[in-house]
Amino acid sequence: MVDVDVLIVGGGAAGLTASILLRQLGVATLLVSALETTSVLPKAHELNQRAMEVLHDCGIGEEVVARSTPPAQMSHTAFYLGFAGHPSAGKQLAKMECWGGGGTDPEWTMASPYLHANLPQLHLEPIMKRRAEELAPDAVRFGHRLVHLDQDDDGVTATIEVVATGERYDVRSTYLIAADGGRTCNDLLGVQMEGLRDLAQEVSVHFSADLSALCSDDSVLIRWIFLPHDPSALCVLVPMGPTRWGTTSEEWVYHANYTYGDPRAFDDAAVLADMAHRLGIEGVELEVHLISRWTLGGVLADRFSQGRVFLVGDAAHRHPPTGGLGLNSALHDVQNLAWKLAYVLDGTAEPSLLETYGQERRPVDARNVDRALENSLQWVSTAVELGLGETDEDVEETWARLARACSTDPRHGAERAHVVEVLAQHSMEFHEHSVEYSYEHQSQAVVPDGTTSAADPDFHRFTPEARPGHPLPHAVLEDHAQHRCSTLDLIDGASLVVLAGEDGGAWVEAAEALAADGLPIAGYRIGHLSGDYLDPRVRWQYLRGHGPTGAIVVRPDRCVAWRSHEAVDDHHATLSSVVAQILGR
Ligand SMILES: Cc1cc2nc3c(=O)[nH]c(=O)nc-3n(C[C@H](O)[C@H](O)[C@H](O)COP(=O)(O)OP(=O)(O)OC[C@H]3O[C@@H](n4cnc5c(N)ncnc54)[C@H](O)[C@@H]3O)c2cc1C
Repeated sequence: MVDVDVLIVGGGAAGLTASILLRQLGVATLLVSALETTSVLPKAHELNQRAMEVLHDCGIGEEVVARSTPPAQMSHTAFYLGFAGHPSAGKQLAKMECWGGGGTDPEWTMASPYLHANLPQLHLEPIMKRRAEELAPDAVRFGHRLVHLDQDDDGVTATIEVVATGERYDVRSTYLIAADGGRTCNDLLGVQMEGLRDLAQEVSVHFSADLSALCSDDSVLIRWIFLPHDPSALCVLVPMGPTRWGTTSEEWVYHANYTYGDPRAFDDAAVLADMAHRLGIEGVELEVHLISRWTLGGVLADRFSQGRVFLVGDAAHRHPPTGGLGLNSALHDVQNLAWKLAYVLDGTAEPSLLETYGQERRPVDARNVDRALENSLQWVSTAVELGLGETDEDVEETWARLARACSTDPRHGAERAHVVEVLAQHSMEFHEHSVEYSYEHQSQAVVPDGTTSAADPDFHRFTPEARPGHPLPHAVLEDHAQHRCSTLDLIDGASLVVLAGEDGGAWVEAAEALAADGLPIAGYRIGHLSGDYLDPRVRWQYLRGHGPTGAIVVRPDRCVAWRSHEAVDDHHATLSSVVAQILGR
C-alpha cells in the first residue's frame, strides 16, 4: 500500500499543475495518469493572463513564454472567404484584435505583469511534466490508471492498475484530486454532468504543410473560414508552430464541424477529402499527424467534491473551445484548491475550508461554460446572417457577393458594412478579459466589506478591484533599491499576506505577531512615497480602495479575502478574527 497526502488522478494540464503546486507547498503527492504520455492532441493553446500567472507560480512561465507564439503573431484573428482553390478564396472578410492585441491593449498590460500566451497543449504538457517530475521524482506515474476508489472517514483507498502489465496496487491518501477529464472518477462517485451535449461532431486534423504561399498576414492566429461551396461547414485553421508561427508555421490544426452522428466524421479518408475540398488544397503536400474527434457541448458537474475527492478541470466542467476557457479554467481551479488542501493537511486550517473550493469555483466555471456555449452558438447565426445557411443563391453568386464585401470599393460599402457588423458580434469571444478576471468569490474564506462591486454585469469591461472576493489587482511597485515588481509578486502562494497603506504599520505588526505564533502570514506597507514598497505610478493607491491606514488580506491564490478602509482600535484582535474566519478556525 502506497501512502500519500494527496493522490492526483490524471496527468493532463490540471493534474500536472496540481502536482507542481502541491509539491511546492510541501504536500506528499502521487500522480497517476492512464496514458503512457502527455497529450498527443494539440487541443488547447490559448493561455490567458491569469493562467500565465499560475504557470509562473509553477516555475515554468518563462519557458512557456519562450516557446509561445510571439505576441506580434497572435495579435489578431481574422475571418476569410474560403482559403484557396477559387479566384476569390483567401479574401479577408474582417480582422479583429484578440486577447490584448499582442500586448498593445493597455487594459491588458495594466491587468497583469504577464501577457496572454499561445502554446499548444501538445507542447505545454511536456514542460509541465518535466517540472512535476523534478519536484516529485518518483511520484509522477504515467501508464498507471485508477480503476476503483473507496472513501471512509479518514481517507481514500484507490486501486491503481499498471496499464502495461495489468498489475494492481492500492494507494491510501487523505484526499484525492480527480483531474481525469471526467473519464473515471465521476462515474465511481455518482457525479452527474449537467448541461448540453453532442450539439455537433467536431473533427481536428493536426498536420505539417507549407501553407505560406496560400495565406498572408502574419499577425493572424486563428483563421475562421466561411465556405460558399460547403456553406454548412465552418473551418478553422490554427498555426501550431513549433518554431515558426504566422503564415510560415510548420504545423497546423484544421478544425471542422459535422452534424452529430454523421458517419463521414469517423472516416479518416472522408475527413481528409473534405478538408482538401473545403480549403481548396487538393494539390498541397501534407503530412497528417493525427485526426481526433470531439463533440460540442457544455456540461458542469452537479458538485465539485464528494467527500474527500475534489474535481478539477474537465472532470468538473467541459465546454466548447470558443473563448479558450477550458484549460485556463482548469488551472484556476487547481490554484484555488492547492493551498486549501495544504493548509488543512498541515493543520493551519480546518477541513471546512475545503468546502469553499466548490462554493467559489462552481459559479465561475458555470459562467465560463455558458460563455463558451454562447460563443459557439454565435457562429451558427453568423453563417446564416452572411447568407450561408439554407439559401437558393447560386454558389458562384455567393462567392461574388462575399468577395464584394471584402473590397474597399465604396460602391460595395453597404455590403462590407453588413459583413463587418455581423462578424463584430464575435468580439467578446476574443476579449474574454472580464470573464477571466471579473469574478467575485463568496464563501467563508472571504469576509465582505460592505461595498458593492464595480464589475460590469455583462462582462464587457474588466474593472480591477481590491475588493474581498476579487483577484488581487496588478500594480507596478518598487523596492528601496528601485527593483520593480508587481503586487502579485508579494503573494508567494504559501502565505496569507497583509498589504497595508503607507500609514498602516499597525497591520504589519499584527501580521508579524500572528506569524510569530506560527501562522503563515506576512505583511507589507505600500505607499506612493513611503512603505516597504513604493507605488511609483500611484496605481495601487487608485486600486486599493482603502485609505493610508487601511489594509487588505490576500490569500495564497491571490484572492483578496478582506479589506479594512482604515485603522481600527485593536489591529491584532481584528486581524486574528479575520484570519480565523478565512481558515475556518
Ligand atoms: C480542439 C480543442 C481546442 C481547445 N482549445 C482551448 C484553448 O485554446 N484554451 C483552453 O483553455 N482550453 C481549450 N480546450 C479545452 C482543453 O483542452 C481542456 O479543457 C483541457 O485539456 C482540460 O485539462 P484536464 O487536465 O482537466 O483534462 P485532460 O486534458 O482531459 O486530462 C485528463 C488526464 O486524465 C487521464 N486519465 C483519464 N482517466 C484516468 C484514470 N482512470 N486514471 C488515471 N488517469 C486518467 C488522461 O490520460 C489525461 O492525462 C480545447 C479543447 C479542444 C478539444
